[in-house]
Amino acid sequence: MKVVLKDLTKIFPPRGRKGKPVTAVDHFNFEIPDGQLIGLLGPSGCGKSTTLYLICGLEKPTSGQLFFGEDEVTNLPPENRGVGLVFQNYALYPHLTVEQNITFPLENLKKSERPTKEEMHTRAVEAAKLVQIEALMERKPSELSGGQQQRVAIARALVKMPKVLLLDEPLSNLDARLRLQTREEIRRIQRETGITTIFVTHDQEEAMSISDMIVVMKDGAIHQIGKPQAVYDDPTNLFVAKFLGTPPINTFEGEVRNGQLYIGEAAVLETPGAPDGRVYVGIRPEGFRLDPEGKLVCHLTGVDVMGRDTSVVSTHEASLDVNVRSIIDSEDAQTISGKEVRFTLRPSKVLLFDRTTEERIRYGK
Ligand code: ADP
Ligand code: MG
Repeated sequence: MKVVLKDLTKIFPPRGRKGKPVTAVDHFNFEIPDGQLIGLLGPSGCGKSTTLYLICGLEKPTSGQLFFGEDEVTNLPPENRGVGLVFQNYALYPHLTVEQNITFPLENLKKSERPTKEEMHTRAVEAAKLVQIEALMERKPSELSGGQQQRVAIARALVKMPKVLLLDEPLSNLDARLRLQTREEIRRIQRETGITTIFVTHDQEEAMSISDMIVVMKDGAIHQIGKPQAVYDDPTNLFVAKFLGTPPINTFEGEVRNGQLYIGEAAVLETPGAPDGRVYVGIRPEGFRLDPEGKLVCHLTGVDVMGRDTSVVSTHEASLDVNVRSIIDSEDAQTISGKEVRFTLRPSKVLLFDRTTEERIRYGK
């Protein structure tokens, strides 16, 4: 089921007499193609949950419209939207078994729509199989690990065979290894079922790794929409560039003069077409190449071997971050000695931004 947001806006009224209204979702316009997994990504408070609640109908928009396929659902009550929702704290009913928890949404249907006991059991088993908990059907939630409980919550959302699946930070309560495993499971389930899925997270790596498309948000506004790799390679502004990537992009003060980029006094890169003026420079960690003739000279503070790659930590007067973090080939790293490291830069990994608007300045072809 395709989902379309048209100028969708949510403004919360002020709290108390001194409060200000909060624009949690500001004119969202985008289309989620049928069968895709979309990651809504942004820092805490940027409006991710509110967007999900608007889509499932738990919140009413202040203005704008929402469509499922060609049908407008803006004013449709949540129970008629065919949406499955999984929250971060997956609140299962402690006194019910896993199976009863999974079938709960079916038991709650109007009599005319409620499946028979037998059919409920079949559907519960199907949903449980998808999340691989079919062996735990008779247990109570207290007899399950956190990861298993979250799977029950996902099965409970799937049992209604939703047209759209909404996941609000579903992995936050899991430990690191389980998060990794469960996010791959979610991707697999989404592929197997083909259900259009919206996955909310503040974790860029999580969103990048499983999404067909990411929507990067901040303060209730969309900053960029695109395929994860495309947004990483070609961010529209400094916020998006900094939000994606581990280690994060390195930032410097710089200046363009006559098609040359200067960091400090050194001309570090040709930037044909970039207008003269002071800029912010973003350099991805993989954008540095060790080079004894390199023009960017940094003060070495540490070298961390991480197997295949080596992380070189250094400082530079024009850096806006405490450390400059570069990732280089472990073999090349063996040439490092002394207090200085010299780099040449890979042009595609060097991004320029306007100092005032922080918008991207493009250069080259
Ligand atoms: P996220 O899920 O990205 O952390 P939310 O959608 O929960 O962000 O919140 C977005 C903004 O809306 C925040 O500033 C939050 O304080 C505000 N907000 C959320 N829900 C309400 C509400 N019911 N009443 C007033 N303000 C709210
Ligand atoms: Mg939230």
